[in-house]
Amino acid sequence: MFFKKTSAVKEDRKEPESPCTFIRDCGFSRRMDADGHNDGKENSGNAARISFQDIRFGRLPSGDVRATFLTRYIFDIPADDLRERIGEFSIEDGALVFPGVDENRAWKRFDPLLDEGFRGLRHLLYDKPAVYIHQNSSIPLIGTNEFGIMDRGSNILEVKPLTGCNFQCPYCSVDEGKNDKTHDYIVECDYLVQEAAKLAAKKAHPVEFNIGPQGEPLLYPRTIELVRGLKSIPNCAVISINTNGSLLTTQLIDDLAAAGLTRINLSLNALTQDAADRLAGKKYPLEKTLRMVEYCRGKIAVLIAPTVVPGFNDDEIDGLVQLSTTIEKRGFPTIGLQNYLEYPKGRAPAKAREFPDFFAMLKPIEEKYGVNLTEMRKGDFAIFDEPEPPKPFFKNDIVRMRVMLPARYKNEIVAVAQGRCITVVGKDAHLLPIGKDIKARIIRDKHNIFKAAI
Ligand code: SF4
Repeated sequence: MFFKKTSAVKEDRKEPESPCTFIRDCGFSRRMDADGHNDGKENSGNAARISFQDIRFGRLPSGDVRATFLTRYIFDIPADDLRERIGEFSIEDGALVFPGVDENRAWKRFDPLLDEGFRGLRHLLYDKPAVYIHQNSSIPLIGTNEFGIMDRGSNILEVKPLTGCNFQCPYCSVDEGKNDKTHDYIVECDYLVQEAAKLAAKKAHPVEFNIGPQGEPLLYPRTIELVRGLKSIPNCAVISINTNGSLLTTQLIDDLAAAGLTRINLSLNALTQDAADRLAGKKYPLEKTLRMVEYCRGKIAVLIAPTVVPGFNDDEIDGLVQLSTTIEKRGFPTIGLQNYLEYPKGRAPAKAREFPDFFAMLKPIEEKYGVNLTEMRKGDFAIFDEPEPPKPFFKNDIVRMRVMLPARYKNEIVAVAQGRCITVVGKDAHLLPIGKDIKARIIRDKHNIFKAAI
């Protein structure tokens, strides 16, 4: 049995608490057995045992302690701090063990060290600082398109559990992979599911949850649990995931199918190795990915979703469309070609093609294979217009807000007001202290994505 340190969920986020609580009341699961012993193990003698479901402790060569959180995130705790605050310790099976120390005293004294450790959380992918957003963090999941849930006014809810990507696509619209962004985010799975359920309950039509982060979703350590959680939401009709496919394995596909994943939107951009590598910004596992597409047959729908980048993969379109005709139809189209567009914060390896030119290029291939490439129909994906969640404030409003977490760019920071995140921009905005109350003017409110200027 797992024991939550706290299960309290703050429903009213109008007055966010000090961000200190976002670590202290983090809701990490301690590993406990039915009798309340940690980790299902009896304490040896009078030893206190500190262990968590999602954190494993190990030793660094320096003797300090490294905590690995959700397998992909780390923070370090100085051994001297543990000795001074709690006592001599050893590490057994990922747990900290303090001989001769009372259990309650150990936990009480460990909490501040955990707080401090989480402030230094890093994403192993590129060794970048990371912020963990969880249900007791007082950080809403609406308001930014970098994490949380986006509702653009239809029955599709976009779910964004993390940032960070193992690829380096030269056309990436959000500049993922190695970049100059200062932080990554990771969101607690239960928190995402809980908030997604609230938004879904307001929809008149069955909902599609699209797991489409700014990054690669299969890097999220709780993808299976996330799919399973979304599937349990009463009016969930479809769960789709946007992936570059590189991390797919037969086991993962089996697990995703069992969890309830409906469709993989696969950004397969080329069928020749050179072009695939160029568009991934690294070696693309082409042959394996094609095997995984075939393995999805009978389990999960696959939509090939290449981005057509002028000068990079124009010659690949024919082959990709042909491949799509061999993919099992499971109620959805099997190809959706995307015209490369330039975005202010994206990478720009080429000049974007005008849409009439793009469609003119696709027309002969469309006719050759009898596949619709030029007219995306909402009905193909059962998409319906729906009201968006209400906006608590609008463009040009002056809003009082509390600075709550780092943004990913210099001169930006994320504040919170009335259940929404707001990206605050302005000279040296990134230097505003966490916890400070400020007033700022809203300069963007579209789809409940808020920006404010100071
Ligand atoms: S796989 Fe997607 S998120 Fe990752 S770099 Fe490429 S386009 Fe960006």
